Amino acid sequence: MPGVIDWAISASCGRRSATLPAMTIDFHCHTTASDGELSPRDLLELAQRCGVTRLSITDHDSVAAYQGLNPLTGLELIGGVEFSTLWNKTGLHILGLNIDPFCPAMQEAVAFQRNARLGRAEKIAEKLEKYGVVAPLEGARSLASAGNVGRPHFARHMVATGFVKDEKEAFKKYLGSGKSCDIRQCWAEPEQIVAWIRAAGGVAVLAHPAKYNLTRSKLVSFLEAFKGWGGGGLEVVSGIQLPAVTRDLAQLCEQLDLSASWGSDFHRPGQSWAQLGRYSAPPPHLRPVWHNW
Ligand code: AMP
Ligand code: FE
Ligand code: FE
Ligand code: ZN
Repeated sequence: MPGVIDWAISASCGRRSATLPAMTIDFHCHTTASDGELSPRDLLELAQRCGVTRLSITDHDSVAAYQGLNPLTGLELIGGVEFSTLWNKTGLHILGLNIDPFCPAMQEAVAFQRNARLGRAEKIAEKLEKYGVVAPLEGARSLASAGNVGRPHFARHMVATGFVKDEKEAFKKYLGSGKSCDIRQCWAEPEQIVAWIRAAGGVAVLAHPAKYNLTRSKLVSFLEAFKGWGGGGLEVVSGIQLPAVTRDLAQLCEQLDLSASWGSDFHRPGQSWAQLGRYSAPPPHLRPVWHNW
């Protein structure tokens, strides 16, 4: 069993989502309410075309996609969100699935995170300006929906103004995990996030556990604390990943008696490793997060 689950390997395993079977469930995807490229309505239409019958939109720190959104025939919409948080200096994402997006607890949660995101955007912009990026805050804001400016919007602005050649370079040099413009000390505590999700009737699920470069023992310590706060699930499959990573996460899921979730983490059409309804095969024997919905 490797000490560190190597996301870099799993991400570059060479498979393309087009070669994967089409799934009917997708519990992780993004819209223009955060850093996705499709409007909520366009996303639902795509889901329908892809044969997805159960979908959760999990925008970063936002439930705005659900405002006025009517499900399409044959497509069940499950309330969802993906919260950003910090644990022991590691930035983590916690999904809230089967939440009521409009209940007071969820409104309080997204208001807190939205404020955090706005303050964070100002700090990121100050840093980028020192590197010579022109008008980063204005640029990122113009690319984002109201109040939900994230690092991808800064990256897009840096590409648009010719500061870097592509978004990958922007993350690699400036915005990526641990780089100088990655501001993480702003989010609500993970314990608070779990409490908000539960108060909104949902289940808290650690998103894409293999992406944080945590050692296995650190991941286990987080998950033990997470369970203690009322966390209930682990995203055992996120997009395309190596079978060894899936096996490892499935084993963790059983060891800690967590429920299992899976999804594509779709952001935009054309991203070959994350298409809607396409992800590596989930293990058959785990208790799914939706077992008691
Ligand atoms: P934020 O919510 O502002 O922290 O931005 C997080 C989002 O940035 C993630 O959900 C990804 O969509 C994107 N992201 C994070 N790291 C990278 C990376 N190294 N390359 C490209 N996009 C990334
Ligand atoms: Fe994202
Ligand atoms: Fe995420
Ligand atoms: Zn996501």
